[in-house]
Amino acid sequence: MASRSFRIVVLPGDGIGPEVVGQAAQVLETVSKASSDFELKLESHEFGGCAIDAHGEPLPPSTLKACQEADAILMGSIGGPKWGVNAKVRPEPGLLTLRKTLGLYANIRPANLASDSLLDLSPLRPEIARGVNIIVVRELIGGLYFGTRKEQDIAPDLDTAWDTMIYSVSEVQRITRVAARIAMASNPPLEIHSVDKANVLASSRLWRKVVTETLTNEFPKVKLHHQLVDSAAMFIVANPLKLNGIILTENLFGDILSDQTSVIPGSLGLLPSASLAGAPSAPSANFKPTTGLYEPIHGSAPDIAGKGIANPIGTILSAALLLRYSLGLEKPAKAIEDAVRKVLDAPEKGGYGLRTGDLGGDAGTEEIGAKIIEVLKTLL
Ligand code: ATP
Ligand code: MG
Repeated sequence: MASRSFRIVVLPGDGIGPEVVGQAAQVLETVSKASSDFELKLESHEFGGCAIDAHGEPLPPSTLKACQEADAILMGSIGGPKWGVNAKVRPEPGLLTLRKTLGLYANIRPANLASDSLLDLSPLRPEIARGVNIIVVRELIGGLYFGTRKEQDIAPDLDTAWDTMIYSVSEVQRITRVAARIAMASNPPLEIHSVDKANVLASSRLWRKVVTETLTNEFPKVKLHHQLVDSAAMFIVANPLKLNGIILTENLFGDILSDQTSVIPGSLGLLPSASLAGAPSAPSANFKPTTGLYEPIHGSAPDIAGKGIANPIGTILSAALLLRYSLGLEKPAKAIEDAVRKVLDAPEKGGYGLRTGDLGGDAGTEEIGAKIIEVLKTLL
């Protein structure tokens, strides 16, 4: 009997969501079957456009309740032209409600080359892109996007409009702790590059002070480097290795920089993301799961939905992050990443050289998923 049982809610979503999530769910089932000390219990729920069609709302109460009770959530993208801007009920507000209800304040987006064999896809020259391994840790529910605003829609006689950027000490502390825990999970600990605009903004000066104090007092082993956001944007293109490790930053800067770093590996279809409600804890006897929502960074790709050609790797790597950050299961997480690498590696490097259409190949969603599972079984 497995000593630990984890409840995982699966939200297949819309467009290519069900296709790519289907492969990632099979990966998790494979991990569960191979282990005698834990068990993953997967359950599927409707969310997004498909839930609007079935229940008239994107986030039905039963889905929300299941998510609140889950140890972690694996999600495909939601939305599509059927529920576009003119639709009476739209999927996106459901996602905002879900994020808010679960208190997901930390967004994590790793950008690295899943395999050196994909260097040709990067818009950067191979000698610049090789070895890039940046994890963007972004504060997700504070700052400019959540401050007070004044706009002309509300007061047409105004000749100004404004947004406010507010951060509190506790908001900066908690996101710093998330970054530090992730840094400490590597040996040696990853370096943290805290990105701000402290030469101009008051909120950035608070950010810099609190990040420095939190790391000095609580995580003295983690190396800290402060970087202004404008120069960080230049380094990501000109010399991204300088920012290897963790970019820790606030909401607006993180929105922009995480999109910028995500183009380095060459396809949207490859990259995972995590949104967490707490800091991941180190595996231990009294380990407690950290609620998190895991999804690929790409959208529902309605242009290729139903064709069986979507790249499932971003979602499969999201499942690996789920095991690592929410459940503290580093070994199977690493095994999934190694299996993905082997499937992508060129045959002359001992791999299978499989690529979906977005990577310039012709492998289908199921073919890639099945090969990853075949390799994974040899690594678990
Ligand atoms: P959203 O508003 O939901 O983010 P979007 O239109 O911005 O959607 P995507 O849905 O991510 O973006 O699609 C952008 C392009 O990338 C499309 O041409 C899509 O087919 C392609 N694409 C996205 N994800 C994948 C994938 N997993 N595999 C292959 N192609 C993909
Ligand atoms: Mg988009």
